[in-house]
Amino acid sequence: MDVKKILLWGLDLLFPPHCVFCNRTVAPGTCICCSCAEELASQSSFSRIGVSRTGSDIYCLTLYWYRDQVRDSIIRYKFQGEKRNAAFYADVLARQIVHWFPWRPDFVTSVPLSAERLKERGYNQSELLAEPVADKLKIPYIQSLKKAGKNRVQHSLRRESRKKNVAGVYSLCGVKIAGKRILLIDDIVTTGSTLLECSNVLLNGGARDVICAAIARVPQGCPPSSA
Ligand SMILES: [Zn+2]
Repeated sequence: MDVKKILLWGLDLLFPPHCVFCNRTVAPGTCICCSCAEELASQSSFSRIGVSRTGSDIYCLTLYWYRDQVRDSIIRYKFQGEKRNAAFYADVLARQIVHWFPWRPDFVTSVPLSAERLKERGYNQSELLAEPVADKLKIPYIQSLKKAGKNRVQHSLRRESRKKNVAGVYSLCGVKIAGKRILLIDDIVTTGSTLLECSNVLLNGGARDVICAAIARVPQGCPPSSA
């Protein structure tokens, strides 16, 4: 055990950590209680979210269903400044990416926020997740997309309106992506419209492949009320 791990373990003894999902106190050096670990163990899914305008199938890995304690945890992470949860989500994502993905990405990128939303929230929850995922996979994190303007919040819209709402909103930052295989990260997937639109921008810009990953997926017919 290295010095950093010993210090972190000591801090956990003084300030006991809490389960990322249900907030119960957990043992030093851990982030999830036994009951949540058991309940959420087999919710990972790797599925097709749509077809890009260049004709490629776009797949997305998600870890959990967006409901109950997962929903509460992501709301705390995304809206209430509980940023430390990113390390836990990123750790699980990186392990599942190695398990599911058919190829190794050249770099990781994330769904951007508009400048206005970023100023409001103070952080981009998807970027905060993507950076440690890149670190764990030992590949670079590159911010390759930007969001031009502030559109309506996706969760308030139906499927068709969501597609229209994100069309033309994202563009490239000017980094070289030609021929690259890219891992695109977001926090929650509802219909997949945002990830599909961002994938289209990357593929139209010359990327070879895009594959997506997110913490949770919303069960169909059950729109997230606060995400
Ligand atoms: Zn728990």
